[in-house]
Amino acid sequence: MRVKRIGRLSAEVQVGDLTVIALSDGQTVMPSTHLCGMDGAPLADLPGADLVDGQLRLQVTAFVVSGPEGCLLIDSGAADAWHPSLGLLPQAMAEAGIAADDITVVALTHTHVDHISGLTRSDTGFAFPQADRVFVPEAEMGLFRAEPRMARVLPRAVMMQPGEGIMPGVVAIAAPGHEVGHTAFLVGGSLLIWGDIIHHPAIQFARPAVTWSYDTDPAQARATRASLLARAAAEGWFVAGAHLAWPCIGQVSVAGDGYAFHPVNAPSTAVY
Ligand SMILES: [Zn+2]
Repeated sequence: MRVKRIGRLSAEVQVGDLTVIALSDGQTVMPSTHLCGMDGAPLADLPGADLVDGQLRLQVTAFVVSGPEGCLLIDSGAADAWHPSLGLLPQAMAEAGIAADDITVVALTHTHVDHISGLTRSDTGFAFPQADRVFVPEAEMGLFRAEPRMARVLPRAVMMQPGEGIMPGVVAIAAPGHEVGHTAFLVGGSLLIWGDIIHHPAIQFARPAVTWSYDTDPAQARATRASLLARAAAEGWFVAGAHLAWPCIGQVSVAGDGYAFHPVNAPSTAVY
């Protein structure tokens, strides 16, 4: 993998013949009580947490995988549906030189507000009119259909199952727990775009048993996180996540009882 460019709102790496671009939707903060221990109660102490005025920093990021067969958007940010500091996806795409009409296919990790809301714009409906399919994890389809804002996206929604190839070089992998159908995507066999496996990187890499209060099934989320962290470290995969530290792409190593995250930094010509 080669780091091509890291900008303010977009960052680009090359994986074989695929270009993966992180697109920042912005950042916000969440209450410190959102990080929970094994008993489900908020953590009493947060040494090493990434705090802004006593609250947890939360990045929100979408990704594009671009290759000879098309341009895949994975997740779409919060648009104007959640916190006012979010909704920067269009600016991030402009910085990266990607037009809305360049997107030929969309896939979702899950159906939470900070991942699906950017699919629609209040003025024109579906925001990516050249994308003929929006892959939704099968187990998330009910939640997707129930979201009024997605009414104009439904005609393009296609059920997706683990193991399915979304486009050449991109495979869906089951990663349940945070949400029932939560799905990750392995790109080029070496970069895992893993959605919401980690919400607060400053805590959860070192302490992967810590859960997030929005996890639908905390025990399942914990097990999935343990499994994917172990796999990423063992295989030397790069990981990319919606809520990782900017540029939201990096590598995982074993560190003590947990893991450490090493975000890619300087653009380089090094091939890892
Ligand atoms: Zn999320």
